[in-house]
Amino acid sequence: PGTPSAHDPARATTLGVMGGGQLGRMFVHAAQQLGYRTVVLEAEADSPAAQAAHHQVRTAYLDPAGLAELVRECDAVTTEFENVPADALRELADHRPVAPAAAAVAVCQDRVAEKAHFAASGVPCAPYAVIDSETALAAVSDTLLPGILKTARLGYDGKGQVRVADRAALEAAWTDLQGVTCVLEQRLSLADELSVIVARGAAGEVVHLPVQHNLHRDGILAVTQVPAPGLDAAQVEQAVASAERIAASLDYVGVLCVEFFLLTDGSLVANEMAPRPHNSGHYSIDACDVSQFDLQVRCMTGLPLVAPRLHSPAVMLNLLGDLWFDAEGRERSPDWAAVLALPGVHLHLYGKAQARRGRKMGHLTLTGATPEAARDAALKAGALLG
Ligand code: ADP
Ligand code: MG
Repeated sequence: PGTPSAHDPARATTLGVMGGGQLGRMFVHAAQQLGYRTVVLEAEADSPAAQAAHHQVRTAYLDPAGLAELVRECDAVTTEFENVPADALRELADHRPVAPAAAAVAVCQDRVAEKAHFAASGVPCAPYAVIDSETALAAVSDTLLPGILKTARLGYDGKGQVRVADRAALEAAWTDLQGVTCVLEQRLSLADELSVIVARGAAGEVVHLPVQHNLHRDGILAVTQVPAPGLDAAQVEQAVASAERIAASLDYVGVLCVEFFLLTDGSLVANEMAPRPHNSGHYSIDACDVSQFDLQVRCMTGLPLVAPRLHSPAVMLNLLGDLWFDAEGRERSPDWAAVLALPGVHLHLYGKAQARRGRKMGHLTLTGATPEAARDAALKAGALLG
């Protein structure tokens, strides 16, 4: 009968996802709502995504037997984890439609390639230099200091980054990072952090979620607000158009998130992108008529993309493992009954057995009839959680 095409929705019946984290879990939920079987490839037992999926392939990402099983089981494959080796996606793409494509994921996995792609898309980013040798280190311009040194690969949630005040600190930091390829970015004066999530189909059609306003604590996303307060129409338009250009010039298929900095002078620069649904889009499950996970399913199966409508202003609060410990470091459980008594509250827990500080255990979305109502409920939730 030949290979079923994922772009024939009548024939795609099983969707596969590389990675077992919470993004995979919420993708699985969305796929199952549309009647798909789901398979998760993940090495760990009892992962958030595998708990929800019909079937788990329990191998490492590059395991040939695991990839072969995923091909046998699935009509189309996506990824929930940004650092899935691009080679694994290439191997899968020889047999099944894979969205996003390995080449696009590879660009997002490498800050050097990513910045070059922003430039090629005509989107400004922070002034930077690539540091891949002693010579490059010595040639760094003083204008980039104070700066932030970031490893080119494998950084997330503020990991793999060092703030450097001067040249001596820069040299020490690069030595500490064992001389791996890094980018040094000028430390910018941020007024706000924003993100835009776009979904692009195989025919190039594109839709976007409302621009998100993000607050980070210790390098980890803490709070997302929509609509983003304080933006004018031109800034919203610029952020959305930039994200769409970045996706189009990658010939991207799937959900893509682009993070932006709004500088104190009102200008907008791209920070980084993620080739998948993003933490700053979780509110879309409860506050939009189509979520970022619904869109990922639609992109990979060739179903129509419809523009999401924000039906409720919302505030999303990440629930980190820290909440599971009291001031003395003893384990405790947050008071969910009190939280669930708030109006417009949507609690999402990811099924992780072990709480650890800084670990994303779940999130809370508070929706309201007005932005003030959502913010008020979020403040109350924050106070209850301590
Ligand atoms: P990660 O992959 O860990 O999310 P980011 O590059 O997004 O790494 O950096 C994490 C956070 O650090 C950003 O959300 C922002 O708050 C801050 N940051 C990063 N780069 C800069 C910069 N060039 N100037 C000022 N702040 C920055
Ligand atoms: Mg980031």
